[in-house]
This record gives sequence, structure tokens and C-alpha cells, in this order.
Amino acid sequence: MDLTWTAQEDAFRAEVRAWLDTELAAWRRRHGGRIESGDTAEGFAQHLDWERTLFDARYAAVSWPIEYGGREASRWEWLIFEEEYYRAGGPQRVTQNGIFLLAPTIFELGTIEQRDHVLPRMAAAEDLWCQGWSEPNAGSDLAALTCRATRDGGRGGWVLDGQKTWTTRGAFCTHLFGLFRTDPGSDRHRGLTYLLVPLDLQGVTVRGFARLDGDEGFAEVFFDDAFLPDDALPGGVVLGVVGEGWSVAMATTSSERGLTLRAPGRFTATAARLVELYRERATVDDDLDPGLRDRVVQGWMEAEAYRWQTLQTVTDEAEGRPAGAASSFVKLWWSELDVSLHETALDLLDPDAELEAPWTKGWQFALSGPIYAGTNEIQRNIAAERVLGLPRK
Ligand SMILES: Cc1cc2nc3c(=O)[nH]c(=O)nc-3n(C[C@H](O)[C@H](O)[C@H](O)COP(=O)(O)OP(=O)(O)OC[C@H]3O[C@@H](n4cnc5c(N)ncnc54)[C@H](O)[C@@H]3O)c2cc1C
Repeated sequence: MDLTWTAQEDAFRAEVRAWLDTELAAWRRRHGGRIESGDTAEGFAQHLDWERTLFDARYAAVSWPIEYGGREASRWEWLIFEEEYYRAGGPQRVTQNGIFLLAPTIFELGTIEQRDHVLPRMAAAEDLWCQGWSEPNAGSDLAALTCRATRDGGRGGWVLDGQKTWTTRGAFCTHLFGLFRTDPGSDRHRGLTYLLVPLDLQGVTVRGFARLDGDEGFAEVFFDDAFLPDDALPGGVVLGVVGEGWSVAMATTSSERGLTLRAPGRFTATAARLVELYRERATVDDDLDPGLRDRVVQGWMEAEAYRWQTLQTVTDEAEGRPAGAASSFVKLWWSELDVSLHETALDLLDPDAELEAPWTKGWQFALSGPIYAGTNEIQRNIAAERVLGLPRK
């Protein structure tokens, strides 16, 4: 692994840094300096404005081909972009479930027509995608899902029935990528199909509901005899092969748990803010517990270690050694690191003062990291069985 950045990569970093500093300030000014959470209706609209600013400058998905709105940036440049993004305090990406989860699967398994239609509209934040996998009785055990898609050959399409839940930002999205049982006689992992569904179909009801922090970040999606025509999207509504949805979904989970969803820049930026917070607190409080300093240093080192590990993963990938089931370790790492960085921050904050909103909000969200993208208990099972080769019982 070559740890030096090239002159071109340094120039890219400088360009991104300057652009972000100017444009983030302009975006905040446009909204009167009051940016709401992207998981509320008002905040989502503000964040969409930001997503479109990113797209106009070809920063919405830097590694994508030019014709889809990207810059054909290398994986390294993508990492640089993410580092700079979080360093500058860039907002949550409300398009992330499309760009970071669905898009890699479309690149891998979609038809040319699907790619040509879905990807540019996704980058431009014209179509907003949510993930429709979990159901009231199918979370960790996703293969227990019961949402049905019944073939209607006469009309040329699928009839959808059932319910999805925990659909992140579903109430604000226009499209859903979901898993449906298309073979009524099948069970578990067989007979499932990965469908691309516009949410404005008749018979689809989306009902937003609040998370722990009060924001309407989740939705339930109900399908009641909803007809999904084959030509609802150019290139068709089936991603991959009918009946083979499980293997398509596994391609998505390796993006979700592996490289793309949580770049190290997110955590190195949090660790840098934690160091800053420690310095501020140490100047006003002579009795600060020395154990806190150790935790700050430990958190900073773990964030750096995650960064080096990611550089290794990118090198492996570039040399044809994909992470496979080992991506479960990545998910365990970032989710637990995020919780511990925020817990240290909360312990550092003056208990008599109002707890600072960004740290409290960040902590509340960090708590969900060990649950979404497959719970950490499930990741430990996968790592134990498929990476370490331990017996199931
Ligand atoms: C912030 C957030 C965003 C989300 N966004 C989406 C989304 O956009 N789309 C979507 O489809 N879903 C989404 N989810 C849902 C998420 O995928 C599920 O919550 C997760 O898969 C767990 O399923 P469950 O909640 O039904 O819990 P359960 O599966 O009921 O698990 C309950 C507990 O039992 C443990 N457990 C279960 N099975 C085992 C086992 N075999 N071995 C050991 N322990 C086990 C789990 O680890 C967990 O601690 C989101 C969740 C969160 C928190």
C-alpha cells in the first residue's frame, strides 16, 4: 500500500476543501442560518437544496461516470472527498440510501437501460430512493418476509400486497427498492424478487412516524393491491432475475456494511471535534477526570486505525480481493466506534450546562448504528461462521 497522495490527489483535496467552505456557508445563508434535521419535512427540503448544489458541481457522486453526473474519481479521491466533507461539517446526505446502497447494485446487476435512467436522476436528487426490506415480522430474519408481488401477465406487471416498516425517510422519498415474494409456494431465501417501485402507485400508502429523537425519520409503507407495471421504469422494475432477489439483496448489503455507507472521514472528523472539545473543557475545568483524556486519545486512535484499515480495504479491492463476509467486521467497527466517541463527548460536557445539541443528537443516532445495516449480533454470527469458520452452535 502506497501511503503518499499524488499531486493530482492533493489538488483534488484543495479544490474540494475550497468549494465546500464557500458553498456550505452560502447554503446556510440561503436558509437564514437555521438548518433543520434532514429527517423532518422542512429539513428534508433544505437538504435537497444542498444535494442539488452538490450535483451541479458534480460532487453528488464523485466516483460515478461523467454521463451520470459524477467525475470518474478514483476510490482514493472518493475517500478524500468524504474526509473533506465531514471535516467541513457537511450535512447528512438525505440521498444516501440511493447513492450508497442501491446504486452500487444497479452498477453491478442493472441493465444498461436501468443504469441510464435511474442513476442520473438519483444523482440529481430528482428521484429519491428508500430501502423497503424490513417488515413487522422480518428484521434480522429478513428471509421471513411476506410482502407479495403476484404476476399479472394480462396487464403486464406485478400486484403488490403487504407492509414494510422502518423505511428511512420513506415519507419524503419518491421510490422504494424492496424485496417481495414472487413465488407463492416458496419459503425463506428462495422465490424472492428485488423490485424498483415508484411510491405514487395507486394502492401504496406511506405513513411517516417518529424516531427516538422525535424526527419523522421512519415510515411504514403499505401495499394494498397496488399494480406495478413492468414499464413503470425504463429497463423494467426487476433488478436482477425474478426469483433471485436474495442474491441481489446480498450485493446491496455488502455495500451497506462495507466501504460505501460509512467512510472513515465521518469518524476522523468526529474524533477531531472530540479532541477540540477536550481542549476547551480542560481550560475551564481543572478537575477533569484524567481517565477522560485517555478515552479521547483512544477514540482518536481508533478512528485513525479505521482510516488505515479502509485504505487497506480499498487496496485489496483494487487488486481483486473483495472483502466478502469480512465486511461484517467493518460494520462492527464503525458502529461501535461511533457510540464510544459520542459517549466520551457526553461525559466531557459540563453536566450543569445544557447538553450541546449536536453531540446529544449525534449520540442518539449513533445508538442506532448497532441496529441498522444488520444488527451487530447478526454481524458477529456472520463473522464467526463465515470468516472464522466457527460452528453454528
Ligand atoms: C436508524 C435505522 C434505520 C433503518 N432503516 C431501514 C430502512 O431504511 N429500510 C429497512 O428495510 N429497514 C431499516 N431499518 C430496520 C433494520 O434493518 C432492523 O431494525 C434490523 O434489521 C433489526 O430488525 P428488527 O428491528 O426487526 O429486530 P429483531 O430482528 O427483532 O432483533 C431484536 C434483537 O434480537 C437480536 N437477534 C435477532 N436474531 C438473532 C440471532 N439469530 N442471533 C443473535 N441475536 C439475534 C437482534 O440482534 C436484536 O438485538 C432501520 C433501523 C434503524 C435503527
